Amino acid sequence: MSTSSRGIVLERHVAVVGGGLVGILAVLYFAKRGWTVSLFELREDLRIQENKRNISHKSINLALSARGLSALKNTTTGLDEKVLESVIPMKGRLIHAGEGKLKSQPYGVFGECIYSVEREMLLELLLNTAATFTNVKMYFQHQLKWCDFDIGKLEFENKKTGNQVEYSADLIIGADGAFSTVRTQLMRVVRMDYSQEYIPHAYCELTIPPIVNNKGDDDFAMDPNHLHIWPLHSFMMIALPNRNKSFTCTLFMPFENFEAIKTEDDLMEFFKKYFSDSIPLIGEERLKEEYFRNPKGSLVSIKCKPYHYKDRAIIIGDAAHCMVPFYGQGMNCGFQDVEVLDGIFEEFNISAVRSDDKLASALEEYTKRRHPDATSICDLAMYNYIEMRSSVVDPWYLLRRRVEGT
Ligand code: FAD
Repeated sequence: MSTSSRGIVLERHVAVVGGGLVGILAVLYFAKRGWTVSLFELREDLRIQENKRNISHKSINLALSARGLSALKNTTTGLDEKVLESVIPMKGRLIHAGEGKLKSQPYGVFGECIYSVEREMLLELLLNTAATFTNVKMYFQHQLKWCDFDIGKLEFENKKTGNQVEYSADLIIGADGAFSTVRTQLMRVVRMDYSQEYIPHAYCELTIPPIVNNKGDDDFAMDPNHLHIWPLHSFMMIALPNRNKSFTCTLFMPFENFEAIKTEDDLMEFFKKYFSDSIPLIGEERLKEEYFRNPKGSLVSIKCKPYHYKDRAIIIGDAAHCMVPFYGQGMNCGFQDVEVLDGIFEEFNISAVRSDDKLASALEEYTKRRHPDATSICDLAMYNYIEMRSSVVDPWYLLRRRVEGT
């Protein structure tokens, strides 16, 4: 155990860079282990933001699965239950097969389901939970610019004041998303294998608002306990329910199809041809307004290895393995990263005070154990794009394409 010259026990200090879902979950796990934790997030604190949609250009809601729930359960007591109070179970897919035909495909025979969860609610809950720990400090509007892992120095730009500020830490965790600065810094000191692949498709979010039922109350316009899919082979739309009885739809299609829709007439012609049953649900005016207003986001898959550097740094979540969203596992997998890392710390008996324990070996073990799984999930996510837009209506689609050599 390490003590200062005055006999004070020196607690280990971890700097978590990136206060997205995965970074904040990591804060909770490290805080629970007794480390001194600093979270640095580029954006403003979501809890004081007026326009919360600025928190992320990513999806409004997400599918939470058993993988993610397990990681929530194993941190702060009751966190998973709190989350489950605010989610909507989706017990299967509901395929909109055209001409009003609907087909339910249950996720399991024993009632297994995934849950629709709102990103903002989950982030807020995690932030509020982190704020209850006295060993956690959170710095918002701090953008990491540079770090030196060997001496544990991090340099940030304080976006509020414009000042450059330095902090130090024993361990640096990069949870700063797909375009991670920590990962870029790691590449300078480790021989990192790295690959990224943009798919030709973009996504755009649209809303199906609540309807008023015969009691005069807001109600869902479709069955809320399904993940809705409109599969059209080269593109598709999905919809997940929200607690305010709306659905968030996500239209996925190649950039060139988005670019070909230039006018409101083009849009209506396209929707009438491919997603006609969704027009009365979204509403023509809303469809035109949201389609042209909302961003068209790109989709990238990123793999890299290793995830760690000595006993000094590690990357988790999208910073380590960004995947296309079709398997609904990006956040879930990032949550599992944190749970797996914590399990390895337990196995290696990693202490919250500076000591000669095997922190470097634990981080190395993390890369060894996690990389094959994370890579497989990235591949499954890529495969599931074809599953969702085609195989759900045509199980032989992939096989035929292979035979035809297309
Ligand atoms: P992020 O959410 O990207 O958070 C990174 C944080 O780091 C951000 O807050 C950012 O501001 C901050 N940051 C970045 N750079 C710096 C810096 N230099 N200094 C300080 N801070 C910095 N996953 C699921 O599990 N289920 C789903 O259903 C699902 N649906 C999706 C739908 C879409 C359309 C998309 C695009 C993604 C979806 N995902 C889903 C994936 C999921 O959104 C991501 O995997 C998840 O958000 C990753 O979390 P993260 O914390 O690792 O990264």
